[in-house]
Amino acid sequence: MQARTKLQREIVYLSNTKLSILNRDNEVWAYNSCLQHIAYATKHKFNCLTCGEKWNRGKERKKCVCPSCDRTLSIINTKCLTYKQWTYFCSLEVVNDFQVIRYFKIVANHKVGREVFVSIDEISQHWLSENGKYEIYAKLHKYNGYLDYWKNEFAIRRKIPNYYGISLYDISVSGCCPDYEVLPKYRKLGFKGNFGNVPPLNFFMELENNNRFECLLKRKEFALLSYYFGSRGHLVDRFWKTICITFRNGYKIKDLNLWFDYLEILQNLGLDCLNAHYVCPNNLEDNHTFYLARRQRRDERQRKKDLIASIQSYEPTYYKEKSKYFDIELGNDEIQISVIRSVQDFYEEGKELNHCVFTNGYYKREYSLILSAKIEGKRIETIEVSLTDFNIVQSRGLRNSKSEYHDKIIDLVNQNLSIIKHKIA
Ligand SMILES: [Zn+2]
Repeated sequence: MQARTKLQREIVYLSNTKLSILNRDNEVWAYNSCLQHIAYATKHKFNCLTCGEKWNRGKERKKCVCPSCDRTLSIINTKCLTYKQWTYFCSLEVVNDFQVIRYFKIVANHKVGREVFVSIDEISQHWLSENGKYEIYAKLHKYNGYLDYWKNEFAIRRKIPNYYGISLYDISVSGCCPDYEVLPKYRKLGFKGNFGNVPPLNFFMELENNNRFECLLKRKEFALLSYYFGSRGHLVDRFWKTICITFRNGYKIKDLNLWFDYLEILQNLGLDCLNAHYVCPNNLEDNHTFYLARRQRRDERQRKKDLIASIQSYEPTYYKEKSKYFDIELGNDEIQISVIRSVQDFYEEGKELNHCVFTNGYYKREYSLILSAKIEGKRIETIEVSLTDFNIVQSRGLRNSKSEYHDKIIDLVNQNLSIIKHKIA
């Protein structure tokens, strides 16, 4: 995009004339601090992937020290010969009252027995003006789910967020060059070179506009800062007063996800989320389990209440529609068949025979008549008779199967369908 506004033209000019080249110290710092340092290990040898040194392996299992470059290396047992890694880092400069965040991509190509080949490429800049406006001056960033690349020359780029509200130019960095320069206002707000996992541009914007963000930074609560910027960040606002109570009590939250889950359970139970007794537990896992069980018991009681209420609310309608069939009694000395007389009885029928006559709301079916076949009071099968063509639609016993009395029941009902037909006339 062409620089159109006065601000954009000024930024393009300053970027091309005032910014320094990344110095050697920063390049070394970026390699040392932002990437992994690895030794490939075979059965008998360690290979330093930074300087290419090989030496006989000792008893080390996780870490070793290269005798040549003196680095502490993470050990990977493999027969591979190459390794590629990359990440982003940033440097901060102040140019003519602008806060400039410069983003670099560092790529390291490793090969066993060779010195590492490192390339560093500047890919983007954010320019923040004193009055809170910003512009993106960057290479074109393309990301299609598989490939992530930067191409073309630097230009002013559009600030269009994607579907998730994130811009392709919001970049999380693995570190910030230690010789950073920031506008005095950010220094006053507590910035000391650490962004946590928050993309730097968002970090500065939040820092300037959000007191809670500033408070967390001054308290060095980087885990909470990152959380605040993540997908469940709204919980930090919702439980802000509770978080302040943990500060006052010197309570350290070890597992933020679990702790916020726990607070939601407490709140749901109507317990006081401003009481240190609840919100600063010695054993978070145990408390979480305890109150979760309490909530599940309460939810279960509530479900039962709702069920009873829903049964009671439909009883009058069912009575009105089907009570004229209630005096139908079919059967013989062995099997007794009668119309189900209440919604409550549908519930009992479904529960005892473990089928869906209640759950699927058969009591609401205007053109079905539901009967229950019993032997000495014990439910055997449930029969559905159509009130449009007076046929048996289905007859089902325990868990929808046929009982040993199925054929007898079908015969009994078929012999007496005329009684039901007579009722509707
Ligand atoms: Zn080495």
